[in-house]
Amino acid sequence: MPTSGHPSFSFKVLGANSATPIPGRFSSSFVLQYNQQLMLIDCGEGAQIKMSEFKVRRSKLNHIFISHLHGDHIFGLPGLFSSLSLNGRVEPITIYGPIGLRLFLETMRDVTDGRAGHEIIIHELDGQATHNLGSINGLSVSAFPLKHRVPTLGYRFDEEPRPLGISTEALAKYKITIEEIKLIKDGMPIKREGQTIPIANVTKKPLPLRSFAYCSDTAYDPLIIPHISGVDLLYHEATYLHELADKARERLHSTSLEAAMIARDASANELIIGHYSGRYKDLSVMTEEARTVFSKTQLAVEGAEFEIG
Ligand SMILES: [Zn+2]
Repeated sequence: MPTSGHPSFSFKVLGANSATPIPGRFSSSFVLQYNQQLMLIDCGEGAQIKMSEFKVRRSKLNHIFISHLHGDHIFGLPGLFSSLSLNGRVEPITIYGPIGLRLFLETMRDVTDGRAGHEIIIHELDGQATHNLGSINGLSVSAFPLKHRVPTLGYRFDEEPRPLGISTEALAKYKITIEEIKLIKDGMPIKREGQTIPIANVTKKPLPLRSFAYCSDTAYDPLIIPHISGVDLLYHEATYLHELADKARERLHSTSLEAAMIARDASANELIIGHYSGRYKDLSVMTEEARTVFSKTQLAVEGAEFEIG
């Protein structure tokens, strides 16, 4: 738990390369951690190797969010589910992704004689629609369409409001009773002999609520901005430098500059770029380009963990 008093909230990179994994640059796979709960976002080939290397306990994963069904975002799932079963997992695991995910998972299970000892709860989502996925691990989660060659979803995770904390100084100053504490927790002011003690006088200043959004893979698409506006941390793909903007448009990917424009126009606080083409050996050119538009840009590199907010 960080010193700020917030529950911990972080985004860890297992792999952030585009289609072909190369040494030190595996395909897309990320761990979102909130208040010690672990969630996986995309699961490219080799995700398990990176979990072992970076000491992510796969047994602790309880939800998986898949952006789309291109292999570099899902080819790690067969191995992951196989390991979870072999390790005797009994807790259910929930997975979200576009339509076709069930066929992929069930085919994989059937042809490999896979027998999970735990339930796999599959939620297939229309890749062309927005979805409110409700409350997951203390986060309010939504999904929204991205612009790619196949149905693709971005995800947004918003911290849910926490109960009001009572100030210890106020407890003593106003001699607050147990009954009054219940009222305060319900957001009611205290009334005494015609006098009202405002709620702000007896509660701690609420901490700002934090948010994170994940957008990969996608062409430059300003239509996503309302879905990601004001996030503390935005992950947005940046497959190419802007000199290859035509290629990006043709393949429905983004350039580093375009990722930065989205972050700027969405009023994000920080941007993480990833999903780089293997043609770039030195990735610093990607951040240099993005920072001309959005200075608070960082590279997703394997093993890096970014605190949210
Ligand atoms: Zn893709």
